[in-house]
Amino acid sequence: MKIFAYAASGFAGHLVSVEVDIRRGIPGLDIVGLPDNAVRESRDRVRIALKRSGFVFPADRILVNLSPAGLKKEGASYDLPIAVGILAATGQIMNPYIQAVLCAGELLLDGTVCSVSGILPAAAAAVAGGVKRLIVPESNLGEAKTLPGGISAGISHLRDLPGILDSEWVYSEPEKGGIVTAGTGVGPIQDLSDLRGQPVLRRALETAAAGRHHILLFGPPGSGKTMAARALEGILPDLNSEKSLEVSRIWSQAGKLEAESGLMIRPPFREPHHSASAEGLVGGGYGTRPGEVSLAHGGVLFLDEAPEFGPRVLQSLREPLESGRVDMARAGRTWWYPADFQLQMAMNPCPCGNLGREEVSCLCTPPEISRYWRRLGGALLDRIDIRVPVPTIGPEELLEAPGEDSMTVRKRVEEARDRQYQRYAGSTWKCNSEIPPGAIDRFVQLDMVSSVYFKEAVRKLGLSSRAAHGVLKVGRTLADLVSRDHVVIEDILEALQHRRFGDRDLFWTTL
Ligand SMILES: [Zn+2]
Repeated sequence: MKIFAYAASGFAGHLVSVEVDIRRGIPGLDIVGLPDNAVRESRDRVRIALKRSGFVFPADRILVNLSPAGLKKEGASYDLPIAVGILAATGQIMNPYIQAVLCAGELLLDGTVCSVSGILPAAAAAVAGGVKRLIVPESNLGEAKTLPGGISAGISHLRDLPGILDSEWVYSEPEKGGIVTAGTGVGPIQDLSDLRGQPVLRRALETAAAGRHHILLFGPPGSGKTMAARALEGILPDLNSEKSLEVSRIWSQAGKLEAESGLMIRPPFREPHHSASAEGLVGGGYGTRPGEVSLAHGGVLFLDEAPEFGPRVLQSLREPLESGRVDMARAGRTWWYPADFQLQMAMNPCPCGNLGREEVSCLCTPPEISRYWRRLGGALLDRIDIRVPVPTIGPEELLEAPGEDSMTVRKRVEEARDRQYQRYAGSTWKCNSEIPPGAIDRFVQLDMVSSVYFKEAVRKLGLSSRAAHGVLKVGRTLADLVSRDHVVIEDILEALQHRRFGDRDLFWTTL
């Protein structure tokens, strides 16, 4: 019986073979093959856990070799494979029908097997590497079973191991894989119907969701922009199966999948605090764990009070926004994670927060307001195609009948997305927001009148070419929301409305 473990290296990872050699000599246990401190400490955990689970710990010289040796081994998930390796090498467990098995799990001193992060990528690597059988912590079993081709058993205590090797599991057929949903670890989703008296805001959120456009909400404190931002989550379509697996793998690697759950089908919504560091945001802070931008892969990264994030932190978003991934290099190691997220930001309109309010006046000077907005950085702001003011609303509007709820709007968003998937089938992009500059003319064709109007508007507003493309992409999404094949002048006008704020000095003259 050959024992395997899994060494993660960012989104990628490798199977590690666990070899145990036992010979006469001074009793002791050595682990070689680039183990980190946690792996080295597993010597004591394994020794005591084996004894307390009723097994014999040999009074011989034990050498555990983790190969390939050049790969760094991190974390406590090696406890179980090392323990199983020792039991197999001493003949305390055996099953001639099992050729290879992947084990992962942390041991407590009493023999309890605790959950570990990264079971899903480990299972994927095992199945891909021809190792079909897996023994994983009971609480991680849902994760392991989501993939087709594996035959997984859950273990909650080391003394159950012989029972597992004697059970039907040994003869079972590979699993077909299945989707078990998991939440995204955030609180209750804000429903769109709670946003009363805010038709422009609701429309902007729907458009952003449909085309996956980056969006910025700005308004005075108390206008409800944070609440509104959280409503975006509920109107996004489910993840497709490919994205679902990617997202779940990242969350598994981060140890954030809920216990006994499988694949995530809802897009994640991450809301890091503005005190977050650049490492916390893009990764590389602790080991090779994913950062917030990768946890937001396939979903939304929401930065509330965006100008409060440090300039270095905001700068760090440029690489993932450009390439949809983050590449890390530290201490001679390199790794990467996917980081294709929709950026959502919220902020006050000016340093004092009162700009655009009727009952209170704003005392900020235009240069102060300008500086405040520039804290976001021109390059970042330029990528945000939808900027929407969120005014404080009066008591009359609060009494208005609620608008459509999130489920109704989500259906429309799903239809608009399906149109995009069909249109871009065979391309490297899937949504309107991702159309590369060179392909815009092909997918957004304006008639003569609209074209003349658009060019005139771009000139007057002084829009950069990226900004002009942004307007066309949002126009494309607006047309998709009403299942129209062609983008018409009304779409362009509405898209331009979304672009009124934040470019150059326009925001304070047009409020
Ligand atoms: Zn102000």
